[in-house]
Amino acid sequence: MNDHMEPDVAARLADVLTEIATAAREAGSDPHEITLVAVGKGHDASRIRPALESGHRVFGENRVQEAADKWPELSTEFPGTALHLIGPLQTNKVRQAVALFDVIETLDRPKLARELAKEMAKAGRRPDCFIEVNTGAEAQKAGVLPAEADPFIALCRNEFDLPVKGLMCIPPAGEEPSLHFALLREIARRNGLAGLSMGMSADYPIAIAFGATHVRVGTAIFGERPPRRPN
Ligand SMILES: *Cc1c(COP(=O)(O)O)cnc(C)c1O
Repeated sequence: MNDHMEPDVAARLADVLTEIATAAREAGSDPHEITLVAVGKGHDASRIRPALESGHRVFGENRVQEAADKWPELSTEFPGTALHLIGPLQTNKVRQAVALFDVIETLDRPKLARELAKEMAKAGRRPDCFIEVNTGAEAQKAGVLPAEADPFIALCRNEFDLPVKGLMCIPPAGEEPSLHFALLREIARRNGLAGLSMGMSADYPIAIAFGATHVRVGTAIFGERPPRRPN
């Protein structure tokens, strides 16, 4: 594709949905059980709007402030949107995140679990939570280590009574993702968690073969992201 051309977002979204359905059928799962989280991070509302106009309603953003700038207006214009936080959450942004997001996919440490529980009680709003697992044990990456996942899941559920629905991972760049998807699936299985958020533009059909219930796809729908603006 020519980078200087506006991508046809509606057509690309339709293609991704078709690929999801194909991958689901091949895996013997029901395509309707797989949620496409369309990742609009880095793009303006004008680039996201065609996806909303085609009826898509589930979106992902990785920064709380960017989501706060972009989404309240879009959600009013297009009722029924569900917004997923897929980037790191600082505890000083917890209040804003609980107000803004429907799903928080990046729960990864006890302090954040405690703050989320407190804020949910105060706000009377309980976004679903996914626990992020650092399947590649990468030093620079967020997420609980695989060996610490079981006790952390138990802590979030039992001590903090958080609505934990599943697990999320971002496999190391340039590595075969299958082993990471299989590991995430195994941790979810032994903890009785149904949700598996895994797979991005480059590998979502593989993730579906490994049981993904949520795929987070940005570039394949919205095109390349413009260089990030300073904060
Ligand atoms: C940006 C991002 C995605 C989407 O990535 P693409 O390669 O553009 O599909 C998915 N998950 C997370 C956590 C992200 O930050």
